[in-house]
Amino acid sequence: MVVAGAGMAGLCAAARARELGASPAVFEKGSRPGGSMLLSSGVIWRYRSFDEFRTHCPGGDPRLQELVHGRLDEGLEWLEALGAPVVERHTGNPLTTGVRFDPAGLTEALVRAAGDVRLDQPAPADGEPLLLATGGFQGDPDLVKRFVRPAAPLRLRANPWSAGAGLRTAVERGAGLTGGLDEFYGRNMADVDFGEAEFVPLAQVYGRFARIFNERGKEFLDRNQVSWSEIDLVQATAHQPGARAWYLLDEQRLDERVRGRSVRELAAEAPTRTNPAQLPFAAPEDTVVAVRVAAAITHTIGGLRVDEESRVLDDAGSPIDALYAAGADAGGISTGGYASGLASALVLGRAAAESAAS
Ligand SMILES: Cc1cc2nc3c(=O)[nH]c(=O)nc-3n(C[C@H](O)[C@H](O)[C@H](O)COP(=O)(O)OP(=O)(O)OC[C@H]3O[C@@H](n4cnc5c(N)ncnc54)[C@H](O)[C@@H]3O)c2cc1C
Repeated sequence: MVVAGAGMAGLCAAARARELGASPAVFEKGSRPGGSMLLSSGVIWRYRSFDEFRTHCPGGDPRLQELVHGRLDEGLEWLEALGAPVVERHTGNPLTTGVRFDPAGLTEALVRAAGDVRLDQPAPADGEPLLLATGGFQGDPDLVKRFVRPAAPLRLRANPWSAGAGLRTAVERGAGLTGGLDEFYGRNMADVDFGEAEFVPLAQVYGRFARIFNERGKEFLDRNQVSWSEIDLVQATAHQPGARAWYLLDEQRLDERVRGRSVRELAAEAPTRTNPAQLPFAAPEDTVVAVRVAAAITHTIGGLRVDEESRVLDDAGSPIDALYAAGADAGGISTGGYASGLASALVLGRAAAESAAS
Protein backbone atom coordinates (compact mmCIF):
# COMPACT_ATOMS: atom_id res chain seq x y z
CA MET A 1 0.00 0.00 0.00
CA VAL A 2 1.24 3.47 -0.87
CA VAL A 3 0.16 6.12 1.61
CA ALA A 4 0.20 9.81 0.65
CA GLY A 5 0.73 11.85 3.82
CA ALA A 6 2.31 11.10 7.20
CA GLY A 7 -0.33 12.91 9.25
CA MET A 8 -3.09 11.47 11.38
CA ALA A 9 -4.97 9.49 8.71
CA GLY A 10 -1.92 8.27 6.79
CA LEU A 11 0.02 7.12 9.84
CA CYS A 12 -3.00 5.38 11.38
CA ALA A 13 -3.61 3.57 8.10
CA ALA A 14 0.02 2.52 7.71
CA ALA A 15 0.28 1.36 11.32
CA ARG A 16 -2.88 -0.71 10.96
CA ALA A 17 -1.77 -2.11 7.58
CA ARG A 18 1.56 -3.22 9.05
CA GLU A 19 -0.28 -4.86 11.93
CA LEU A 20 -2.30 -6.79 9.35
CA GLY A 21 0.84 -8.07 7.64
CA ALA A 22 1.26 -5.54 4.82
CA SER A 23 4.38 -3.46 4.08
CA PRO A 24 3.03 0.07 3.52
CA ALA A 25 5.26 2.93 2.35
CA VAL A 26 4.29 6.38 3.63
CA PHE A 27 5.33 9.32 1.46
CA GLU A 28 5.43 12.70 3.18
CA LYS A 29 5.78 15.96 1.31
CA GLY A 30 6.87 17.86 4.41
CA SER A 31 10.17 17.82 6.23
CA ARG A 32 8.66 16.22 9.34
CA PRO A 33 5.93 13.68 10.03
CA GLY A 34 2.69 14.52 11.87
CA GLY A 35 1.07 17.10 9.59
CA SER A 36 -1.50 19.21 11.43
CA MET A 37 -1.90 16.45 14.01
CA LEU A 38 1.44 17.46 15.49
CA LEU A 39 0.26 21.08 15.80
CA SER A 40 -3.11 20.13 17.24
CA SER A 41 -4.40 20.12 20.80
CA GLY A 42 -4.59 16.32 20.51
CA VAL A 43 -8.20 15.92 21.66
CA ILE A 44 -9.75 12.98 19.78
CA TRP A 45 -13.47 13.03 20.47
CA ARG A 46 -17.00 12.17 19.44
CA TYR A 47 -20.44 13.43 20.40
CA ARG A 48 -21.82 11.48 23.35
CA SER A 49 -24.75 10.21 21.31
CA PHE A 50 -25.17 9.53 17.62
CA ASP A 51 -28.29 11.74 17.65
CA GLU A 52 -26.17 14.65 18.88
CA PHE A 53 -23.70 13.99 16.06
CA ARG A 54 -26.53 14.12 13.51
CA THR A 55 -27.97 17.27 15.11
CA HIS A 56 -24.65 19.08 15.08
CA CYS A 57 -23.48 17.89 11.64
CA PRO A 58 -26.75 17.47 9.74
CA GLY A 59 -25.22 17.53 6.25
CA GLY A 60 -22.90 14.56 6.75
CA ASP A 61 -23.40 11.06 5.35
CA PRO A 62 -25.10 9.09 8.17
CA ARG A 63 -23.26 5.87 7.22
CA LEU A 64 -19.85 7.51 7.57
CA GLN A 65 -20.94 9.22 10.74
CA GLU A 66 -22.11 5.90 12.18
CA LEU A 67 -18.72 4.39 11.36
CA VAL A 68 -16.78 7.20 13.06
CA HIS A 69 -19.11 7.25 16.05
CA GLY A 70 -19.19 3.47 16.45
CA ARG A 71 -15.48 2.74 15.96
CA LEU A 72 -13.84 5.66 17.72
CA ASP A 73 -13.53 4.10 21.16
CA GLU A 74 -11.71 1.01 19.88
CA GLY A 75 -9.46 3.35 17.86
CA LEU A 76 -8.57 5.27 21.01
CA GLU A 77 -7.69 2.03 22.82
CA TRP A 78 -5.55 1.00 19.85
CA LEU A 79 -3.62 4.29 19.98
CA GLU A 80 -2.95 3.77 23.66
CA ALA A 81 -1.79 0.23 22.99
CA LEU A 82 0.67 1.63 20.43
CA GLY A 83 2.14 3.75 23.22
CA ALA A 84 0.56 7.14 22.48
CA PRO A 85 0.69 9.12 25.75
CA VAL A 86 -2.65 10.17 27.23
CA VAL A 87 -2.87 13.62 28.83
CA GLU A 88 -6.53 13.62 29.90
CA ARG A 89 -9.45 11.23 29.67
CA HIS A 90 -12.10 13.87 29.13
CA THR A 91 -12.74 16.72 26.72
CA GLY A 92 -14.03 19.32 29.17
CA ASN A 93 -17.16 19.60 27.04
CA PRO A 94 -20.38 17.96 28.32
CA LEU A 95 -21.54 17.35 24.72
CA THR A 96 -18.57 15.18 23.86
CA THR A 97 -16.40 12.34 25.11
CA GLY A 98 -12.84 11.51 24.15
CA VAL A 99 -9.18 11.44 25.06
CA ARG A 100 -6.50 14.09 24.89
CA PHE A 101 -3.14 12.77 23.69
CA ASP A 102 0.21 14.49 23.70
CA PRO A 103 0.57 15.35 19.97
CA ALA A 104 4.34 14.82 19.84
CA GLY A 105 4.07 11.46 21.62
CA LEU A 106 1.14 10.45 19.42
CA THR A 107 3.13 11.26 16.29
CA GLU A 108 6.14 9.35 17.58
CA ALA A 109 4.12 6.24 18.45
CA LEU A 110 2.40 6.24 15.06
CA VAL A 111 5.61 6.76 13.09
CA ARG A 112 7.17 3.85 14.99
CA ALA A 113 4.22 1.60 14.19
CA ALA A 114 3.94 2.76 10.56
CA GLY A 115 7.58 1.83 9.88
CA ASP A 116 8.54 3.07 6.44
CA VAL A 117 8.01 6.87 6.44
CA ARG A 118 9.82 8.81 3.70
CA LEU A 119 10.13 12.54 4.39
CA ASP A 120 10.45 15.31 1.77
CA GLN A 121 8.89 13.01 -0.82
CA PRO A 122 5.51 13.90 -2.29
CA ALA A 123 3.56 10.73 -2.95
CA PRO A 124 3.51 9.18 -6.44
CA ALA A 125 0.03 9.48 -7.96
CA ASP A 126 0.03 5.93 -9.32
CA GLY A 127 0.68 3.73 -6.28
CA GLU A 128 -1.53 0.67 -5.88
CA PRO A 129 -3.42 0.52 -3.70
CA LEU A 130 -3.10 4.23 -2.99
CA LEU A 131 -4.42 5.96 0.13
CA LEU A 132 -4.84 9.71 -0.18
CA ALA A 133 -4.28 11.25 3.24
CA THR A 134 -2.85 14.63 2.30
CA GLY A 135 -4.93 16.61 4.79
CA GLY A 136 -7.32 18.70 2.67
CA PHE A 137 -6.84 21.70 0.38
CA GLN A 138 -6.60 24.66 2.77
CA GLY A 139 -2.95 25.28 1.80
CA ASP A 140 -3.85 26.13 -1.81
CA PRO A 141 -5.23 29.69 -1.99
CA ASP A 142 -6.67 29.06 -5.49
CA LEU A 143 -8.67 26.01 -4.40
CA VAL A 144 -9.84 27.88 -1.29
CA LYS A 145 -10.92 30.81 -3.45
CA ARG A 146 -12.76 28.50 -5.85
CA PHE A 147 -14.59 26.33 -3.32
CA VAL A 148 -14.80 28.30 -0.05
CA ARG A 149 -15.11 31.70 -1.74
CA PRO A 150 -13.94 33.93 1.14
CA ALA A 151 -14.13 37.70 0.76
CA ALA A 152 -10.35 37.91 1.20
CA PRO A 153 -7.54 35.32 1.44
CA LEU A 154 -7.74 33.31 4.67
CA ARG A 155 -4.77 32.97 7.00
CA LEU A 156 -3.51 29.39 7.24
CA ARG A 157 -3.74 27.79 10.68
CA ALA A 158 -2.45 24.36 9.71
CA ASN A 159 0.61 22.58 8.34
CA PRO A 160 1.83 24.34 5.16
CA TRP A 161 1.82 21.26 2.91
CA SER A 162 -1.85 20.26 2.64
CA ALA A 163 -2.62 21.90 -0.67
CA GLY A 164 -5.14 19.64 -2.37
CA ALA A 165 -2.88 16.90 -3.80
CA GLY A 166 -5.38 14.22 -2.73
CA LEU A 167 -8.28 16.06 -4.30
CA ARG A 168 -6.47 16.60 -7.59
CA THR A 169 -5.16 13.05 -7.86
CA ALA A 170 -8.57 11.52 -7.20
CA VAL A 171 -10.50 13.88 -9.48
CA GLU A 172 -8.14 12.97 -12.30
CA ARG A 173 -9.17 9.36 -11.68
CA GLY A 174 -12.87 10.19 -11.82
CA ALA A 175 -13.66 10.78 -8.14
CA GLY A 176 -16.87 12.46 -7.05
CA LEU A 177 -16.94 15.32 -4.55
CA THR A 178 -19.16 15.73 -1.50
CA GLY A 179 -21.29 18.70 -0.53
CA GLY A 180 -19.97 21.28 1.92
CA LEU A 181 -16.96 22.22 -0.22
CA ASP A 182 -17.43 25.80 0.95
CA GLU A 183 -17.20 24.77 4.61
CA PHE A 184 -14.07 24.75 6.72
CA TYR A 185 -12.90 24.34 10.28
CA GLY A 186 -10.83 27.18 11.61
CA ARG A 187 -10.69 29.90 14.20
CA ASN A 188 -11.07 33.61 14.33
CA MET A 189 -7.60 34.74 15.36
CA ALA A 190 -6.34 38.05 16.69
CA ASP A 191 -5.73 39.98 13.47
CA VAL A 192 -1.91 39.96 13.55
CA ASP A 193 0.72 37.84 11.81
CA PHE A 194 1.28 34.53 13.54
CA GLY A 195 3.26 31.30 13.32
CA GLU A 196 2.66 27.72 14.44
CA ALA A 197 3.42 28.49 18.08
CA GLU A 198 0.54 30.99 18.16
CA PHE A 199 -2.14 28.77 16.53
CA VAL A 200 -3.73 28.06 19.92
CA PRO A 201 -2.90 31.14 22.04
CA LEU A 202 -4.04 33.69 19.44
CA ALA A 203 -7.37 31.93 18.73
CA GLN A 204 -10.21 34.09 20.10
CA VAL A 205 -12.72 31.51 21.32
CA TYR A 206 -15.32 33.70 23.01
CA GLY A 207 -17.11 35.11 19.97
CA ARG A 208 -20.44 33.70 21.15
CA PHE A 209 -20.33 36.12 24.11
CA ALA A 210 -19.57 39.16 21.95
CA ARG A 211 -21.63 41.27 19.61
CA ILE A 212 -20.12 40.62 16.19
CA PHE A 213 -19.64 43.42 13.68
CA ASN A 214 -17.78 43.72 10.42
CA GLU A 215 -15.39 46.53 9.51
CA ARG A 216 -18.24 48.56 8.06
CA GLY A 217 -20.13 48.50 11.35
CA LYS A 218 -22.72 45.90 10.35
CA GLU A 219 -23.70 43.35 13.00
CA PHE A 220 -23.58 40.32 10.70
CA LEU A 221 -24.34 37.51 13.13
CA ASP A 222 -26.53 37.26 16.21
CA ARG A 223 -24.37 35.90 19.05
CA ASN A 224 -27.30 33.83 20.30
CA GLN A 225 -27.12 31.80 17.10
CA VAL A 226 -23.41 31.00 17.28
CA SER A 227 -22.67 27.30 17.92
CA TRP A 228 -20.51 26.01 20.79
CA SER A 229 -17.59 25.35 18.41
CA GLU A 230 -17.91 28.78 16.74
CA ILE A 231 -17.29 27.11 13.38
CA ASP A 232 -20.30 28.96 11.97
CA LEU A 233 -18.83 32.23 13.22
CA VAL A 234 -15.44 31.76 11.54
CA GLN A 235 -17.15 30.71 8.30
CA ALA A 236 -19.42 33.78 8.40
CA THR A 237 -16.41 36.01 9.15
CA ALA A 238 -14.65 34.65 6.04
CA HIS A 239 -17.39 36.23 3.94
CA GLN A 240 -17.15 39.70 5.51
CA PRO A 241 -15.01 42.51 4.06
CA GLY A 242 -11.34 41.63 4.55
CA ALA A 243 -12.46 38.31 6.13
CA ARG A 244 -12.35 40.23 9.41
CA ALA A 245 -14.66 41.00 12.32
CA TRP A 246 -14.83 42.95 15.56
CA TYR A 247 -15.90 41.31 18.81
CA LEU A 248 -17.57 43.89 21.05
CA LEU A 249 -17.90 42.94 24.71
CA ASP A 250 -19.95 44.50 27.49
CA GLU A 251 -19.12 44.37 31.20
CA GLN A 252 -21.48 41.50 31.94
CA ARG A 253 -20.10 39.21 29.21
CA LEU A 254 -16.54 39.73 30.39
CA ASP A 255 -17.37 37.49 33.35
CA GLU A 256 -18.37 34.52 31.17
CA ARG A 257 -15.93 31.63 31.31
CA VAL A 258 -14.30 29.66 28.48
CA ARG A 259 -12.13 26.61 29.24
CA GLY A 260 -11.65 27.72 32.84
CA ARG A 261 -10.72 31.33 32.07
CA SER A 262 -12.78 34.52 32.03
CA VAL A 263 -13.50 36.34 28.79
CA ARG A 264 -12.02 39.39 30.55
CA GLU A 265 -8.62 37.65 30.80
CA LEU A 266 -8.77 36.25 27.27
CA ALA A 267 -9.68 39.58 25.69
CA ALA A 268 -7.04 41.39 27.75
CA GLU A 269 -4.38 39.12 26.22
CA ALA A 270 -5.52 39.76 22.63
CA PRO A 271 -2.94 41.92 20.84
CA THR A 272 -5.75 43.56 18.85
CA ARG A 273 -7.89 44.67 21.81
CA THR A 274 -9.07 48.21 21.18
CA ASN A 275 -10.76 51.02 23.04
CA PRO A 276 -14.33 51.16 21.65
CA ALA A 277 -13.97 54.92 21.16
CA GLN A 278 -11.34 54.17 18.50
CA LEU A 279 -13.49 51.86 16.38
CA PRO A 280 -14.13 52.82 12.74
CA PHE A 281 -17.90 52.85 13.52
CA ALA A 282 -20.14 53.77 16.46
CA ALA A 283 -20.22 50.84 18.88
CA PRO A 284 -23.20 50.03 21.12
CA GLU A 285 -22.97 52.22 24.23
CA ASP A 286 -22.34 49.41 26.68
CA THR A 287 -19.21 48.15 24.84
CA VAL A 288 -16.20 48.18 27.14
CA VAL A 289 -13.66 46.38 24.98
CA ALA A 290 -13.35 45.52 21.27
CA VAL A 291 -11.10 42.88 19.69
CA ARG A 292 -10.29 42.72 15.96
CA VAL A 293 -10.19 39.19 14.55
CA ALA A 294 -9.49 37.59 11.17
CA ALA A 295 -10.73 34.23 9.90
CA ALA A 296 -8.09 31.49 9.67
CA ILE A 297 -8.52 28.08 8.05
CA THR A 298 -7.37 24.82 9.66
CA HIS A 299 -8.91 22.25 7.33
CA THR A 300 -11.51 21.93 4.67
CA ILE A 301 -14.68 19.93 5.39
CA GLY A 302 -15.90 19.00 1.93
CA GLY A 303 -13.77 16.61 -0.11
CA LEU A 304 -13.70 13.28 -1.87
CA ARG A 305 -16.70 10.96 -1.76
CA VAL A 306 -15.82 7.78 0.12
CA ASP A 307 -17.69 4.77 1.47
CA GLU A 308 -17.40 3.03 4.85
CA GLU A 309 -14.26 1.22 3.64
CA SER A 310 -12.69 4.59 2.75
CA ARG A 311 -12.86 3.64 -0.94
CA VAL A 312 -13.05 6.70 -3.17
CA LEU A 313 -16.33 6.79 -5.11
CA ASP A 314 -17.05 8.20 -8.52
CA ASP A 315 -20.02 10.49 -9.22
CA ALA A 316 -22.30 7.49 -9.66
CA GLY A 317 -21.27 6.11 -6.25
CA SER A 318 -19.12 3.21 -7.52
CA PRO A 319 -15.71 2.56 -5.91
CA ILE A 320 -12.66 3.49 -7.98
CA ASP A 321 -10.27 0.57 -8.14
CA ALA A 322 -7.56 0.54 -5.43
CA LEU A 323 -8.06 4.19 -4.48
CA TYR A 324 -8.75 5.20 -0.88
CA ALA A 325 -9.02 8.51 1.00
CA ALA A 326 -9.11 9.37 4.68
CA GLY A 327 -8.74 12.37 6.98
CA ALA A 328 -9.50 15.81 5.61
CA ASP A 329 -9.15 14.54 2.02
CA ALA A 330 -12.43 12.67 2.57
CA GLY A 331 -15.61 14.75 2.82
CA GLY A 332 -19.08 13.98 4.08
CA ILE A 333 -18.46 13.52 7.81
CA SER A 334 -18.86 16.80 9.66
CA THR A 335 -20.76 18.66 6.94
CA GLY A 336 -23.00 21.39 8.32
CA GLY A 337 -21.14 21.57 11.62
CA TYR A 338 -18.04 20.50 13.48
CA ALA A 339 -16.69 17.15 14.59
CA SER A 340 -13.21 15.95 15.55
CA GLY A 341 -10.96 15.82 12.49
CA LEU A 342 -8.53 13.59 14.35
CA ALA A 343 -11.34 11.13 15.10
CA SER A 344 -12.46 10.74 11.49
CA ALA A 345 -8.82 10.49 10.33
CA LEU A 346 -8.21 7.71 12.88
CA VAL A 347 -11.32 5.70 12.03
CA LEU A 348 -11.24 6.10 8.25
CA GLY A 349 -7.47 5.60 8.11
CA ARG A 350 -7.83 2.27 9.91
CA ALA A 351 -10.81 1.33 7.74
CA ALA A 352 -8.77 1.96 4.59
CA ALA A 353 -5.99 -0.36 5.78
CA GLU A 354 -8.47 -3.09 6.69
CA SER A 355 -10.24 -2.82 3.35
CA ALA A 356 -6.99 -2.90 1.37
CA ALA A 357 -5.83 -5.94 3.36
CA SER A 358 -8.99 -7.86 2.59
C1 LIG B 1 -3.86 24.31 16.09
C2 LIG B 1 -4.68 23.09 15.77
C3 LIG B 1 -5.40 22.47 16.78
C4 LIG B 1 -6.18 21.35 16.48
N1 LIG B 1 -6.79 20.69 17.50
C5 LIG B 1 -7.53 19.59 17.22
C6 LIG B 1 -8.09 18.83 18.29
O1 LIG B 1 -7.84 19.05 19.48
N2 LIG B 1 -8.91 17.78 17.95
C7 LIG B 1 -9.15 17.43 16.65
O2 LIG B 1 -9.90 16.48 16.40
N3 LIG B 1 -8.56 18.10 15.62
C8 LIG B 1 -7.75 19.15 15.88
N4 LIG B 1 -7.12 19.80 14.85
C9 LIG B 1 -7.34 19.33 13.48
C10 LIG B 1 -6.52 18.06 13.17
O3 LIG B 1 -5.15 18.35 13.33
C11 LIG B 1 -6.83 17.58 11.76
O4 LIG B 1 -8.21 17.36 11.63
C12 LIG B 1 -6.10 16.26 11.43
O5 LIG B 1 -4.70 16.41 11.61
C13 LIG B 1 -6.44 15.82 10.01
O6 LIG B 1 -5.72 14.65 9.72
P1 LIG B 1 -5.17 14.41 8.24
O7 LIG B 1 -4.41 13.15 8.28
O8 LIG B 1 -6.27 14.57 7.28
O9 LIG B 1 -4.19 15.67 8.00
P2 LIG B 1 -2.75 15.96 8.62
O10 LIG B 1 -2.65 15.40 9.99
O11 LIG B 1 -2.50 17.40 8.44
O12 LIG B 1 -1.76 15.15 7.66
C14 LIG B 1 -1.71 15.39 6.28
C15 LIG B 1 -0.27 15.11 5.84
O13 LIG B 1 -0.20 15.00 4.41
C16 LIG B 1 1.01 15.61 3.98
N5 LIG B 1 0.92 15.91 2.55
C17 LIG B 1 0.26 16.90 1.92
N6 LIG B 1 0.39 16.78 0.58
C18 LIG B 1 1.15 15.68 0.33
C19 LIG B 1 1.62 15.03 -0.84
N7 LIG B 1 1.37 15.49 -2.07
N8 LIG B 1 2.38 13.90 -0.70
C20 LIG B 1 2.69 13.42 0.54
N9 LIG B 1 2.28 14.03 1.69
C21 LIG B 1 1.49 15.13 1.59
C22 LIG B 1 1.12 16.81 4.88
O14 LIG B 1 2.41 17.35 4.90
C23 LIG B 1 0.71 16.21 6.23
O15 LIG B 1 1.82 15.65 6.90
C24 LIG B 1 -6.29 20.88 15.13
C25 LIG B 1 -5.52 21.48 14.14
C26 LIG B 1 -4.71 22.57 14.44
C27 LIG B 1 -3.86 23.18 13.37
